[in-house]
Amino acid sequence: MQGYNPSIKLNNGVTMPAVGLGVYRSSPEDTVGAVKAALAAGYRMIDTAAAYRNEAQVSQAVRENGIARSDIFIQTKLWVSDYSYDGAMHGFERSMKKLGFDYLDLYLLHQPAPAEFERTVGAYKAAEKLMAEGRIRAIGVSNFSPAHIERLMAETDVTPAVNQVELHPFFTQKPLIDFHKKHDILTQAWSPIGGVQRYWREDAKPEEDPLTHPAIAALAQKYSKSPAQIMLRWHLQLGISIIPKSVSPARIIENFDIFDFALTAEEIASIDALDTGKRGGPDPEHSDRKAFPFVIED
Ligand code: NDP
Repeated sequence: MQGYNPSIKLNNGVTMPAVGLGVYRSSPEDTVGAVKAALAAGYRMIDTAAAYRNEAQVSQAVRENGIARSDIFIQTKLWVSDYSYDGAMHGFERSMKKLGFDYLDLYLLHQPAPAEFERTVGAYKAAEKLMAEGRIRAIGVSNFSPAHIERLMAETDVTPAVNQVELHPFFTQKPLIDFHKKHDILTQAWSPIGGVQRYWREDAKPEEDPLTHPAIAALAQKYSKSPAQIMLRWHLQLGISIIPKSVSPARIIENFDIFDFALTAEEIASIDALDTGKRGGPDPEHSDRKAFPFVIED
């Protein structure tokens, strides 16, 4: 089933591949090779961000690969230092200059700025305008809670197409997923194989890593798959879009080789049961400029 690439229809009718490559913490040099390896393996969606500082390398890899722009789904994110209407317009043009494309497939607000939510709203209104002008095909958010989304929806016109959030077997976010379903918002998982459990805290313990959990290992053995493949398949069967990150060509191929087996309902439930209710990454209630003071340079 290599080459198979399921797609998902967003709430505005735009279609996107369910599986993409993430490039957070991929160095500029590694990003070119990782994106090329992903495209060769069949990926057609790449998730970058202004804050990852590798938008230009994502673009370089796509161009050098020779793939038609219309055959690939590119998503990037606006960083909090550019929130406000005018700031977002500027931040978007900066990203587009680095990407060098005429249009963007999906633009996400990287995280809410709860302490200055009016800037968050201003930034989203700029994204709405850019979508109305045809510069962006779909807009959404990332790391938003139901309360953040409700507040945003009360002050803007376009329901976010996507909310990209931390989601893996140790943090399953069931109430948030239910909220998304009610509003036809696609859940997209970041750290789908629990990456944040390993790199975010210096004191991370092996038992906090879902990649090494015995229940996942047992399923991996049953299906002759890797623990990462079991987790990625679990997301897909729950209707969640995934963007696993790797800079290793072998792991990039492995993470896309997940279409030739299916977990049973009981197995899905057994992975759901690993939820700890504790996120590995930062708390979105404290994700504004004060907590993340770095800015994106022109
Ligand atoms: P992932 O769950 O994708 O894990 C990535 C880590 O796992 C890397 O260290 C990678 O190392 C390793 N890895 C990859 N594949 C395998 C495998 N098959 N077996 C074992 N180890 C593997 O975590 P991320 O946090 O990177 O999340 C993925 C993407 O989500 C990011 O790249 C980014 O695009 C997005 N993201 C968004 C955030 C947001 O705030 N919106 C926050 C964080 C991430 P190696 O590269 O050496 O293979």
